[in-house]
Amino acid sequence: MLRKKLIAGNWKMNCLSKEGTDLAKAIAAKVKQENYNCDFLICPPFTLLSLVKKCLRGTKIALGGQDAHFAVKGAHTGDISPLMLADLGCSYTILGHSERRTDHHETNKIVCQKAIAAHAAGLKTVICIGETEAQRDEGKTIKICQDQISGSVPEDSTAKNTVIAYEPIWAIGTGKTPTAADVQEVHAAIRQALVKKLGKATAARMRILYGGSVKPGNAAELLSLPDVDGALIGGASLKVDDFIAIAKNATK
Ligand code: PEP
Repeated sequence: MLRKKLIAGNWKMNCLSKEGTDLAKAIAAKVKQENYNCDFLICPPFTLLSLVKKCLRGTKIALGGQDAHFAVKGAHTGDISPLMLADLGCSYTILGHSERRTDHHETNKIVCQKAIAAHAAGLKTVICIGETEAQRDEGKTIKICQDQISGSVPEDSTAKNTVIAYEPIWAIGTGKTPTAADVQEVHAAIRQALVKKLGKATAARMRILYGGSVKPGNAAELLSLPDVDGALIGGASLKVDDFIAIAKNATK
């Protein structure tokens, strides 16, 4: 298999200790029960990383942060460095999620700097891109995604250290999704942008996840698309049965 599917959960700013550990333990138990032919990643809030790490022991589920600063340490109050994530046992971090781009004014350049720092710290990155509803209505989706690939993905990216997540902003947490044909068209265009940026061999091996209202009911169709290599899941990753039901569609 050229690209093994990745099923990633983004818990966002949800769960206190008990809820988070209960959820992680339940997911770990389910993943241990069956032989899933996909990779798993869970990205809890920073406050739960150590606790969740313990719950995932003995499983193949990777742990990730939801963001990381571009500096290794220093005067950046409230921020977390990629080395700190690695120190806690993370192997991944999400970067450039649309909520970070909106709430914290993160530009492609900042996302790119963060990715370089994360890779240097030994982390793999899930770099998020996607268009707003207005941009889609104006027919700019592909151009926006190509520009985000060009600006947010560093030159040092490889298929091993980088995953792309295409998340149409208007589909996140709304229950709306693009048609399967639209998703495939955008993913294929993203892969072409990766060819331009990183070369054919790397682009062919780099995983491109779809994110935005992925649920058990639409996972089979989305995950069967030729350029969809997994899912970044928000709301449904907080429900163990939904998260696992989605993963079952990745192994078919
Ligand atoms: C996300 O925030 O990355 C996401 C895809 O959320 P949801 O699945 O809730 O749309």
